[in-house]
Amino acid sequence: MSEAINRRIQVDLSGRTAIVTGASRGIGKAIAMRLAAAGAKVACVARSADKLNETVDAITAAGGEAEVHPCDVSDSEAVTKLVESLAEKWGGIDIVVNNAGITKDTLIPRMSDEDWDAVIATNLRSVFLFTRAASLVMMRKRSGRIINIASVSGLMGNAGQANYSASKAGVIGLTRTVAQELASRKVTVNAICPGFIASEMTQAMGATLDEFVKTRIPAKRLGEAEEVADAVLYLASDSAAYITGEVITIDGGLTP
Ligand code: NDP
Repeated sequence: MSEAINRRIQVDLSGRTAIVTGASRGIGKAIAMRLAAAGAKVACVARSADKLNETVDAITAAGGEAEVHPCDVSDSEAVTKLVESLAEKWGGIDIVVNNAGITKDTLIPRMSDEDWDAVIATNLRSVFLFTRAASLVMMRKRSGRIINIASVSGLMGNAGQANYSASKAGVIGLTRTVAQELASRKVTVNAICPGFIASEMTQAMGATLDEFVKTRIPAKRLGEAEEVADAVLYLASDSAAYITGEVITIDGGLTP
Protein backbone atom coordinates (compact mmCIF):
# COMPACT_ATOMS: atom_id res chain seq x y z
CA MET A 1 0.00 0.00 0.00
CA SER A 2 1.35 3.44 -0.86
CA GLU A 3 2.32 6.17 1.60
CA ALA A 4 -0.55 8.24 0.19
CA ILE A 5 -3.14 6.02 1.82
CA ASN A 6 -1.51 4.76 5.00
CA ARG A 7 -3.88 6.79 7.17
CA ARG A 8 -7.28 5.15 6.78
CA ILE A 9 -10.80 6.18 7.73
CA GLN A 10 -12.29 4.25 10.64
CA VAL A 11 -15.84 2.94 10.39
CA ASP A 12 -17.63 0.46 12.63
CA LEU A 13 -19.77 -2.00 10.66
CA SER A 14 -20.01 -4.69 13.32
CA GLY A 15 -23.31 -6.53 13.17
CA ARG A 16 -23.81 -5.50 9.51
CA THR A 17 -23.99 -7.87 6.53
CA ALA A 18 -22.68 -7.24 3.04
CA ILE A 19 -22.60 -8.79 -0.43
CA VAL A 20 -19.63 -7.89 -2.63
CA THR A 21 -19.64 -9.07 -6.25
CA GLY A 22 -16.38 -9.62 -8.10
CA ALA A 23 -14.68 -10.22 -4.75
CA SER A 24 -12.21 -12.79 -6.06
CA ARG A 25 -9.55 -10.26 -7.05
CA GLY A 26 -8.72 -6.61 -7.73
CA ILE A 27 -11.00 -3.86 -6.48
CA GLY A 28 -13.72 -6.25 -5.27
CA LYS A 29 -11.27 -8.18 -3.11
CA ALA A 30 -10.03 -4.92 -1.54
CA ILE A 31 -13.64 -3.84 -0.87
CA ALA A 32 -14.54 -7.20 0.72
CA MET A 33 -11.44 -7.07 2.93
CA ARG A 34 -12.10 -3.47 3.97
CA LEU A 35 -15.78 -4.08 4.88
CA ALA A 36 -14.83 -7.23 6.81
CA ALA A 37 -12.02 -5.39 8.63
CA ALA A 38 -14.66 -2.83 9.70
CA GLY A 39 -16.68 -5.68 11.24
CA ALA A 40 -19.20 -6.61 8.52
CA LYS A 41 -19.96 -10.22 7.62
CA VAL A 42 -19.25 -10.43 3.89
CA ALA A 43 -20.63 -12.75 1.19
CA CYS A 44 -17.97 -12.86 -1.53
CA VAL A 45 -19.40 -13.48 -5.01
CA ALA A 46 -17.64 -14.33 -8.32
CA ARG A 47 -17.53 -17.32 -10.69
CA SER A 48 -14.23 -18.81 -9.53
CA ALA A 49 -14.63 -20.62 -6.20
CA ASP A 50 -10.87 -21.14 -5.87
CA LYS A 51 -10.07 -17.43 -6.08
CA LEU A 52 -12.97 -16.58 -3.77
CA ASN A 53 -11.53 -18.99 -1.22
CA GLU A 54 -8.30 -16.97 -1.29
CA THR A 55 -10.25 -13.79 -0.45
CA VAL A 56 -12.14 -15.48 2.35
CA ASP A 57 -8.95 -17.03 3.74
CA ALA A 58 -7.30 -13.58 3.80
CA ILE A 59 -10.33 -12.08 5.58
CA THR A 60 -10.46 -14.91 8.11
CA ALA A 61 -6.71 -14.70 8.76
CA ALA A 62 -7.17 -11.01 9.57
CA GLY A 63 -9.93 -11.88 12.08
CA GLY A 64 -12.93 -11.07 9.87
CA GLU A 65 -15.98 -13.09 8.77
CA ALA A 66 -16.73 -13.99 5.15
CA GLU A 67 -18.38 -16.64 2.99
CA VAL A 68 -17.74 -17.96 -0.52
CA HIS A 69 -20.69 -17.79 -2.94
CA PRO A 70 -19.77 -18.80 -6.50
CA CYS A 71 -22.36 -17.29 -8.85
CA ASP A 72 -22.57 -15.80 -12.34
CA VAL A 73 -23.88 -12.30 -11.60
CA SER A 74 -25.78 -12.13 -14.90
CA ASP A 75 -27.88 -15.22 -14.06
CA SER A 76 -31.26 -13.94 -12.87
CA GLU A 77 -32.37 -17.11 -11.10
CA ALA A 78 -29.03 -17.66 -9.36
CA VAL A 79 -28.79 -14.03 -8.17
CA THR A 80 -32.35 -13.95 -6.87
CA LYS A 81 -31.88 -17.24 -5.01
CA LEU A 82 -28.58 -16.09 -3.53
CA VAL A 83 -29.95 -12.78 -2.24
CA GLU A 84 -33.08 -14.42 -0.83
CA SER A 85 -31.13 -17.17 0.93
CA LEU A 86 -28.62 -14.74 2.47
CA ALA A 87 -31.43 -12.42 3.61
CA GLU A 88 -33.18 -15.33 5.27
CA LYS A 89 -30.03 -16.69 6.92
CA TRP A 90 -28.77 -13.29 8.10
CA GLY A 91 -32.15 -11.71 8.86
CA GLY A 92 -31.50 -9.00 6.27
CA ILE A 93 -28.80 -7.51 4.06
CA ASP A 94 -27.32 -4.15 4.97
CA ILE A 95 -24.87 -3.49 2.14
CA VAL A 96 -24.62 -4.57 -1.50
CA VAL A 97 -21.58 -3.62 -3.55
CA ASN A 98 -22.08 -4.28 -7.27
CA ASN A 99 -18.48 -4.47 -8.44
CA ALA A 100 -18.18 -7.45 -10.83
CA GLY A 101 -17.26 -6.32 -14.32
CA ILE A 102 -15.53 -7.28 -17.54
CA THR A 103 -14.16 -5.57 -20.64
CA LYS A 104 -14.24 -6.82 -24.22
CA ASP A 105 -12.68 -3.89 -26.02
CA THR A 106 -12.60 -3.25 -29.75
CA LEU A 107 -13.64 -0.48 -32.11
CA ILE A 108 -17.34 -0.35 -32.97
CA PRO A 109 -17.15 -1.72 -36.57
CA ARG A 110 -15.51 -4.88 -35.24
CA MET A 111 -17.60 -5.35 -32.08
CA SER A 112 -19.49 -8.65 -32.16
CA ASP A 113 -23.01 -9.19 -30.81
CA GLU A 114 -21.49 -11.60 -28.29
CA ASP A 115 -19.01 -9.04 -26.96
CA TRP A 116 -21.74 -6.42 -26.66
CA ASP A 117 -24.14 -8.78 -24.88
CA ALA A 118 -21.54 -10.24 -22.51
CA VAL A 119 -20.40 -6.84 -21.26
CA ILE A 120 -23.93 -5.48 -20.84
CA ALA A 121 -25.01 -8.67 -19.03
CA THR A 122 -22.07 -8.78 -16.62
CA ASN A 123 -21.76 -5.06 -15.95
CA LEU A 124 -25.34 -3.75 -16.12
CA ARG A 125 -27.90 -6.56 -15.96
CA SER A 126 -26.12 -7.84 -12.83
CA VAL A 127 -26.58 -4.51 -11.07
CA PHE A 128 -30.28 -4.57 -11.93
CA LEU A 129 -30.62 -8.16 -10.65
CA PHE A 130 -28.88 -7.60 -7.30
CA THR A 131 -30.56 -4.23 -6.80
CA ARG A 132 -34.03 -5.60 -7.49
CA ALA A 133 -33.58 -8.54 -5.13
CA ALA A 134 -31.88 -6.55 -2.35
CA SER A 135 -34.24 -3.57 -2.56
CA LEU A 136 -37.17 -5.67 -1.35
CA VAL A 137 -35.20 -6.86 1.67
CA MET A 138 -33.82 -3.39 2.46
CA MET A 139 -37.16 -1.58 2.04
CA ARG A 140 -38.74 -3.95 4.54
CA LYS A 141 -35.98 -3.13 7.06
CA ARG A 142 -36.11 0.59 6.26
CA SER A 143 -32.34 0.66 5.86
CA GLY A 144 -29.66 -0.30 3.35
CA ARG A 145 -26.74 0.75 1.22
CA ILE A 146 -26.32 -0.11 -2.46
CA ILE A 147 -22.97 0.93 -3.92
CA ASN A 148 -22.34 0.44 -7.64
CA ILE A 149 -18.88 0.47 -9.17
CA ALA A 150 -19.23 2.23 -12.52
CA SER A 151 -16.30 3.87 -14.37
CA VAL A 152 -15.12 7.20 -15.75
CA SER A 153 -15.65 5.47 -19.10
CA GLY A 154 -19.39 5.75 -18.41
CA LEU A 155 -19.04 9.51 -17.95
CA MET A 156 -16.63 10.54 -20.69
CA GLY A 157 -16.61 7.59 -23.09
CA ASN A 158 -13.44 5.82 -24.23
CA ALA A 159 -12.57 4.79 -27.78
CA GLY A 160 -12.65 0.99 -28.08
CA GLN A 161 -15.11 0.61 -25.19
CA ALA A 162 -18.57 1.23 -26.68
CA ASN A 163 -20.00 -1.80 -24.86
CA TYR A 164 -18.20 -1.05 -21.58
CA SER A 165 -18.94 2.68 -21.47
CA ALA A 166 -22.59 2.04 -22.38
CA SER A 167 -22.84 -0.49 -19.55
CA LYS A 168 -21.27 1.90 -17.04
CA ALA A 169 -23.39 4.87 -18.19
CA GLY A 170 -26.35 2.51 -17.69
CA VAL A 171 -25.18 1.78 -14.14
CA ILE A 172 -25.08 5.53 -13.43
CA GLY A 173 -28.63 6.03 -14.76
CA LEU A 174 -29.89 3.03 -12.80
CA THR A 175 -28.20 4.36 -9.65
CA ARG A 176 -29.79 7.80 -9.92
CA THR A 177 -33.26 6.37 -10.60
CA VAL A 178 -33.27 3.71 -7.89
CA ALA A 179 -31.91 6.28 -5.41
CA GLN A 180 -35.06 8.33 -5.99
CA GLU A 181 -37.28 5.26 -5.61
CA LEU A 182 -35.74 4.07 -2.34
CA ALA A 183 -34.76 7.29 -0.53
CA SER A 184 -37.94 7.49 1.57
CA ARG A 185 -37.23 3.96 2.86
CA LYS A 186 -33.78 5.03 4.10
CA VAL A 187 -31.98 2.98 1.45
CA THR A 188 -29.19 4.90 -0.28
CA VAL A 189 -27.91 4.09 -3.76
CA ASN A 190 -24.66 5.60 -5.01
CA ALA A 191 -22.11 4.99 -7.75
CA ILE A 192 -18.34 5.25 -7.72
CA CYS A 193 -16.49 5.92 -10.97
CA PRO A 194 -12.88 4.80 -10.68
CA GLY A 195 -10.41 6.10 -13.22
CA PHE A 196 -7.37 3.91 -13.81
CA ILE A 197 -6.77 1.60 -10.85
CA ALA A 198 -3.90 -0.90 -10.62
CA SER A 199 -5.51 -4.30 -11.27
CA GLU A 200 -5.55 -7.19 -13.76
CA MET A 201 -8.00 -5.14 -15.86
CA THR A 202 -5.53 -2.25 -16.32
CA GLN A 203 -2.46 -4.55 -16.55
CA ALA A 204 -4.01 -5.86 -19.76
CA MET A 205 -3.37 -2.42 -21.33
CA GLY A 206 0.40 -3.11 -21.35
CA ALA A 207 2.84 -0.35 -22.38
CA THR A 208 0.10 2.11 -23.44
CA LEU A 209 -0.83 2.40 -19.78
CA ASP A 210 2.49 4.05 -18.73
CA GLU A 211 2.14 6.63 -21.48
CA PHE A 212 -1.48 7.29 -20.52
CA VAL A 213 -0.59 7.81 -16.86
CA LYS A 214 2.22 10.24 -17.77
CA THR A 215 0.26 12.31 -20.25
CA ARG A 216 -3.40 12.17 -19.16
CA ILE A 217 -3.64 11.64 -15.39
CA PRO A 218 -2.92 14.86 -13.46
CA ALA A 219 -1.96 12.86 -10.32
CA LYS A 220 0.67 11.00 -12.46
CA ARG A 221 -0.09 7.61 -10.93
CA LEU A 222 -2.61 4.81 -11.03
CA GLY A 223 -5.17 4.64 -8.25
CA GLU A 224 -5.07 1.80 -5.76
CA ALA A 225 -7.90 -0.64 -5.10
CA GLU A 226 -7.80 0.35 -1.42
CA GLU A 227 -8.62 3.95 -2.35
CA VAL A 228 -11.84 2.76 -4.00
CA ALA A 229 -12.52 0.50 -1.01
CA ASP A 230 -12.24 3.44 1.40
CA ALA A 231 -14.90 5.38 -0.54
CA VAL A 232 -17.15 2.31 -0.43
CA LEU A 233 -16.58 2.07 3.32
CA TYR A 234 -17.62 5.68 3.78
CA LEU A 235 -20.76 5.29 1.66
CA ALA A 236 -21.62 2.12 3.63
CA SER A 237 -21.27 3.96 6.95
CA ASP A 238 -23.93 5.72 9.03
CA SER A 239 -22.12 9.01 8.25
CA ALA A 240 -23.28 8.79 4.62
CA ALA A 241 -27.02 8.39 5.39
CA TYR A 242 -27.96 11.62 3.55
CA ILE A 243 -25.90 10.90 0.42
CA THR A 244 -27.91 9.20 -2.31
CA GLY A 245 -28.02 9.24 -6.11
CA GLU A 246 -24.45 10.55 -6.05
CA VAL A 247 -21.69 9.66 -8.50
CA ILE A 248 -18.20 9.95 -7.04
CA THR A 249 -15.16 9.87 -9.31
CA ILE A 250 -11.86 8.52 -7.99
CA ASP A 251 -9.51 9.25 -10.86
CA GLY A 252 -6.57 11.45 -9.85
CA GLY A 253 -8.11 14.40 -11.70
CA LEU A 254 -8.63 12.63 -15.05
CA THR A 255 -12.19 13.87 -15.59
CA PRO A 256 -12.59 17.65 -15.62
P1 NDP B 1 -10.87 -7.59 -12.29
O1 NDP B 1 -10.90 -8.07 -13.68
O2 NDP B 1 -9.58 -7.61 -11.54
O3 NDP B 1 -11.97 -8.40 -11.42
C1 NDP B 1 -13.27 -8.57 -11.90
C2 NDP B 1 -14.08 -9.37 -10.89
O4 NDP B 1 -15.39 -9.59 -11.42
C3 NDP B 1 -13.48 -10.74 -10.60
O5 NDP B 1 -13.68 -11.05 -9.24
C4 NDP B 1 -14.31 -11.66 -11.48
O6 NDP B 1 -14.30 -12.98 -10.96
C5 NDP B 1 -15.67 -10.99 -11.38
N1 NDP B 1 -16.58 -11.34 -12.46
C6 NDP B 1 -16.41 -11.12 -13.79
N2 NDP B 1 -17.44 -11.63 -14.48
C7 NDP B 1 -18.29 -12.18 -13.57
C8 NDP B 1 -19.53 -12.87 -13.65
N3 NDP B 1 -20.16 -13.09 -14.83
N4 NDP B 1 -20.11 -13.31 -12.51
C9 NDP B 1 -19.51 -13.11 -11.33
N5 NDP B 1 -18.36 -12.45 -11.16
C10 NDP B 1 -17.74 -12.00 -12.28
O7 NDP B 1 -11.50 -6.12 -12.33
P2 NDP B 1 -11.18 -4.82 -11.43
O8 NDP B 1 -10.98 -5.19 -10.02
O9 NDP B 1 -10.18 -4.02 -12.12
O10 NDP B 1 -12.58 -4.04 -11.61
C11 NDP B 1 -13.64 -4.16 -10.68
C12 NDP B 1 -14.76 -3.22 -11.12
O11 NDP B 1 -14.25 -1.89 -11.20
C13 NDP B 1 -15.34 -3.54 -12.48
O12 NDP B 1 -16.73 -3.30 -12.49
C14 NDP B 1 -14.65 -2.56 -13.39
O13 NDP B 1 -15.40 -2.28 -14.54
C15 NDP B 1 -14.53 -1.36 -12.48
N6 NDP B 1 -13.46 -0.43 -12.86
C16 NDP B 1 -12.15 -0.82 -12.85
C17 NDP B 1 -11.16 0.06 -13.20
C18 NDP B 1 -9.71 -0.28 -13.18
O14 NDP B 1 -8.90 0.59 -13.53
N7 NDP B 1 -9.32 -1.47 -12.77
C19 NDP B 1 -11.50 1.44 -13.63
C20 NDP B 1 -12.89 1.74 -13.61
C21 NDP B 1 -13.84 0.83 -13.22
P3 NDP B 1 -14.50 -14.30 -11.87
O15 NDP B 1 -13.73 -14.07 -13.16
O16 NDP B 1 -13.98 -15.42 -11.04
O17 NDP B 1 -15.97 -14.42 -12.09
